[in-house]
Amino acid sequence: MGMRIIFGWKGSFEKGISNRMVDGSRNEMNSGVLYLVATPIGNLEDITYRAVRILQEVDLILAEDTRTSGKLLSHYGIKTPTTSYHEHNKFSKLPVLLSKLEEGKSLALISDAGTPGISDPGEELVAACVEKGIEVYAIPGAVAAICALTSSGISGRRFAFEAFLPKKKKKRQQVLHELKQETRTIVLYEAPHHLKALLEELMDALGDRNIVLCRELTKRYEEKTKTTFSEALQKYETVDPRGEYVVIIEGKTENDVENRDNRQWNDITIEEQMEIYMNRGLERGEAMKQVAKMRGLRKREVYEALLEAKET
Ligand code: SAM
Repeated sequence: MGMRIIFGWKGSFEKGISNRMVDGSRNEMNSGVLYLVATPIGNLEDITYRAVRILQEVDLILAEDTRTSGKLLSHYGIKTPTTSYHEHNKFSKLPVLLSKLEEGKSLALISDAGTPGISDPGEELVAACVEKGIEVYAIPGAVAAICALTSSGISGRRFAFEAFLPKKKKKRQQVLHELKQETRTIVLYEAPHHLKALLEELMDALGDRNIVLCRELTKRYEEKTKTTFSEALQKYETVDPRGEYVVIIEGKTENDVENRDNRQWNDITIEEQMEIYMNRGLERGEAMKQVAKMRGLRKREVYEALLEAKET
């Protein structure tokens, strides 16, 4: 298939809504426009003038949760009608939304926080619009991942944004396996009640690493903690994580992580290391495999070392 320009600048300022305001005309296709409007991730001031204006001017706002977005909209005196558009109706609502757009209505999609389409609904609607030749414009603004990455102190020159790891075990294991070799900085999202388990899994899969835990960005209790998986896990033995988190993980470096692990693990005995893994819920065989991996040994060697330690 040849290259095709899906939307282009057609000479006037905004398509759809503003065309009508400025010169009374519509865009060339006579159909409406979908705007993806980024909203704050905490601090209500983190929204652009353009975003507020578009939300005021469109015919309809599609909100992930109309009650949550209601607070933002009333803060800015936006009275545009809203309708829900979320994970559970994102397919069933597509036809009606597409016909509105085709009738010439302009719609703005917002999510509970940040940029629509980034770990939030939007992708399917955008793909359907692109397919039909309906114009889509992103109105840029907050993204938790970028806010965290740029303020973390870990290089953001190259990064892999994984957002939430897949929930299904097999897919999750596969992603963790891929991340093991990842040399770019890794950026993950996680809910507070799953953070500890995630850090344990990452520690097991990647070995100990430098990380930055970015919590409650742009909010009153914003906090960025430069730490490691092992140190963070130790801390969360006594306190539970609270608030929203982005986890920034240093990529695999030449100064290889496994070498660092070897040094660290050599400070304790194989038995002690086994105990750590088994306390974290690993079966004995799995724990032996992990010990072997971290120390650059064969599983058999770990087995023999454990036998020997038992005999002495
Ligand atoms: N669309 C959003 C964006 O542009 O970043 C992401 C929505 S996703 C459903 C929610 C996740 O984003 C949270 O679980 C957390 O990992 C992260 N997040 C959102 N707001 C945050 C904040 N203020 N501080 C830290 N993490 C945040």
